Amino acid sequence: MKYHSTNNSSHQVDLKEAILRSLPPDNGLYMPNQLPVLGDDFWNKWRELSFHEIAFAVTEAFFGEDVPAEKLREIVEGTLAFDAPLVTLAPGDHILELFHGPTLAFKDFGARFMARLMAHLTHGEDRELTVLVATSGDTGGAVASAFHNVPGTRVVILYPKGKVSGLQEKQLTALGGNITALEIDGTFDDCQALVKKAFLDREVAERMNLTSANSINLSRLVPQSFYYIHSARQLPENVKPVFVVPSGNFGNLTAGLLARQLGLPVEHFLAATNRNDVVPRYLASGVYEPVPSISTISNAMDVGAPSNFVRMTALFGNSWEDFSNCMSGMSFSDEETRAAVREVKSLYGYEIDPHGAVGWLAARNYRATHPGSTTITLETAHPAKFPDVMDEELGAGVVEIPERLAVLADKEKVATELSKDWEPFREWLAGNIS
Ligand SMILES: *Cc1c(COP(=O)(O)O)cnc(C)c1O
Repeated sequence: MKYHSTNNSSHQVDLKEAILRSLPPDNGLYMPNQLPVLGDDFWNKWRELSFHEIAFAVTEAFFGEDVPAEKLREIVEGTLAFDAPLVTLAPGDHILELFHGPTLAFKDFGARFMARLMAHLTHGEDRELTVLVATSGDTGGAVASAFHNVPGTRVVILYPKGKVSGLQEKQLTALGGNITALEIDGTFDDCQALVKKAFLDREVAERMNLTSANSINLSRLVPQSFYYIHSARQLPENVKPVFVVPSGNFGNLTAGLLARQLGLPVEHFLAATNRNDVVPRYLASGVYEPVPSISTISNAMDVGAPSNFVRMTALFGNSWEDFSNCMSGMSFSDEETRAAVREVKSLYGYEIDPHGAVGWLAARNYRATHPGSTTITLETAHPAKFPDVMDEELGAGVVEIPERLAVLADKEKVATELSKDWEPFREWLAGNIS
């Protein structure tokens, strides 16, 4: 399979370049030349298949031309070492729990798959691959966990000093081995600017064999389409789901569109956002206006210029009409989100995190105006990752902390402090990465 840039369809690369380069030089995004469709042999029996069998079929549809089937099976098995259970709160109101991986957020699916695919694509090369990633929270932890001890790779994570939660920081800094954390005296944007600068510096990028692990990488999206099919499979046969996706950079929602493209019957998509609502406004008006992001309690969705927007428009052939027929947008304030956290607990005894709560609000609104519809709301992280909000709304200690998060508290933080300037970062790279 060849891949092209959304900015220039004649810029074509193979799988290895699309995955390892991550971004085309023209600043577009990579798309496969043919979007795969699963055939009748799959859709005739999909409801009887296991999560792993569905995942393998999807993976083979995307990567089967380039990677041997037994290798793909190994990648899928290694990625899905945990389940994605569908929980029913009330008739027609379902929650898809995506937080059962090692770092308790859905990003584990994409990061674990990407690490395994990259290891395969670079296998046998004597140069070490350096994965450079800026994080505001969940991405860095998922990437660090996924690449930890993967031979031939090392990970350098940049995070803004004092701006990630204590447990998130431990997820980035306590692993050791091939994972190095840099604590940058600046904001997330400063971290991202340093990463971008390293990529643009041809000499640095070449010498260190740099690759990126952010959500524009196609290999993070494909595994996120597995759970759309896996969850829909569990509904009664005559029911088409409405998928409700709490969104920031819109990687997760784009993966839902890939699942639909593969042939999954979907009634509708809801793009649920906090006050960072560029996509809901685009869906309502047809005008796309990126703006600087604002801080909210669902901070993993604080994105003012979603990086996967161009990929979504490409999937709809640049037609706003098709886009807005398939998807509606809804945005909610922090106050509404907090009230939803309390309400879901008091109505159903269920603890939903602030990101999932934004989705649940959108789902409830939609069901109210479309009676009889069935919503599947993606719960993108475990509530214990957001102790401040959960304690304020439900009371201290109500949300139990899972063992794999609790053990981090005693681990030692190891990070190198750097200023937000390019020169010290460049020197650090030169001195530490060969
Ligand atoms: C990253 C993240 C999101 C946003 O996902 P996108 O794919 O960027 O839209 C939502 N919730 C949580 C908990 C996240 O970590």
